[in-house]
Amino acid sequence: MLYSFKCNTPPSDEASGVAAEDLTRTASGGPLAELAADAQLASVRARSGAQVRSSTGMTSRRTCPPDRLGFEQLRNAQPAGPAVNVQTTTGGQLKKLLATPKPNAAGWVPTLSAGLRYTLGGGKVLSMTLDGAPVTATQEIRVAGAWSLIAGFDGRPRWEGTTTYTSGPDDTGALAAYLVAHSPVPAPPGDRLPPVRLLAAGVGGDRSQGGSSAMGGCCGTVAVMFAEVTYASTPGSERPNEDLVIAGPSWIVVLDGATAAAGVDSGCVHDVPWLVARLGGALAAGLSQSKASLSGILEAAIEVAVAAHSGTCDLGNPDSPSATVAMVRGVEGRVEYLVLGDSPVLFALADGGVRVASDDRLEGLPGGRPYTVELVRRMRNAPGGFWVAGSRPEAARQGVCGAVADVRGVGVVTDGVSRLVEWYGWSWGDLVAALEGKGPQAVIRAVRELERTRGPVRGKRHDDATAAWGRIGHM
Ligand SMILES: [Zn+2]
Repeated sequence: MLYSFKCNTPPSDEASGVAAEDLTRTASGGPLAELAADAQLASVRARSGAQVRSSTGMTSRRTCPPDRLGFEQLRNAQPAGPAVNVQTTTGGQLKKLLATPKPNAAGWVPTLSAGLRYTLGGGKVLSMTLDGAPVTATQEIRVAGAWSLIAGFDGRPRWEGTTTYTSGPDDTGALAAYLVAHSPVPAPPGDRLPPVRLLAAGVGGDRSQGGSSAMGGCCGTVAVMFAEVTYASTPGSERPNEDLVIAGPSWIVVLDGATAAAGVDSGCVHDVPWLVARLGGALAAGLSQSKASLSGILEAAIEVAVAAHSGTCDLGNPDSPSATVAMVRGVEGRVEYLVLGDSPVLFALADGGVRVASDDRLEGLPGGRPYTVELVRRMRNAPGGFWVAGSRPEAARQGVCGAVADVRGVGVVTDGVSRLVEWYGWSWGDLVAALEGKGPQAVIRAVRELERTRGPVRGKRHDDATAAWGRIGHM
């Protein structure tokens, strides 16, 4: 059943459906915008083959109370009334559109229907999955949207591609029809917009969120401590695990050693686990005893590792062993972080929000993936490239760092675990919830299960996988 409110206003006592709970409208859209997106996709899916729907806050105005929803409530929630069209576009064009989620003057950004997930970083969509499968640049996707959104009204970019279906209902009618079919309607979780990522721009200095900068001079009394730290780490193959996780009462370190390319002379008589162990030991000593900044502690740790093999090995060799570093330390009222390389840090905030600190420079090398061995060698620890802990102590100053206040828990994972988000359609919120609720070991089991059933998107089927979760307790 489709209502068209443009032509025919139904009697005011007629209800289309019932909301099971508050359908909240937040500043950027939230559950109400997500419900609108799902309703509009449902209204044209069977006839047009649409796979995704984008709505904006413009078409979802006010929170709906948990109640019987009649015409007045629907008109208040979604008064715009443009018809739903379907545009056939490509994965690459959709990524481009979502890469700059330019809010309009009221702060509205596009909200996607359930099934489409993406991550943002450095002004780009880093990964995108549709119903759990990675979206490629050339893949055709049919996206439903209000004709005005597709045409680029309201200061937004015009959508590229071809309009392939124009017989959808108006969006208010689509919401009414959805309520008729699905009442009582539960509120979507409101987590489809990627969390704000704390990015590599402005590296080399400490940046903070809601707390004073670590550069301002540590420390006073160390007040934020972990009530509990849990972690798990499993190798991806028969080879030794090149990840390492170490924790103390107020800090966690996760290292991911870079596997040497086959047949490449590293100039080093040691192996990757040797380097990771040297770095880890020096970092543990620094974090336990020093009040220096995290980048200062890392720089000193790299110097210790360099000194341990400078006599036997050629540290000028660009293939000398190296590792990513992700470290956190609780200080007064906040948690400091440093990320160097592709092991992200996740923050569960006291108010339920999620923050992700990541270093996406490896994702942005010239020419895009797949990378050649030569390109990676040339861009490692080089300006404009990516930075890791190896034979160059000054790489520590390139870490993405800052501090986050009002934290409930902190997760630190290697890319063998963050592939849940980058490859398999989890949101960062899903990963935080799983770390907090089920624990690191269960999260790694979920990775292995998805790797077995879906296979890798690129590279190794199984990578070394490490996850740590620190639950904050305040002293
Ligand atoms: Zn060596």
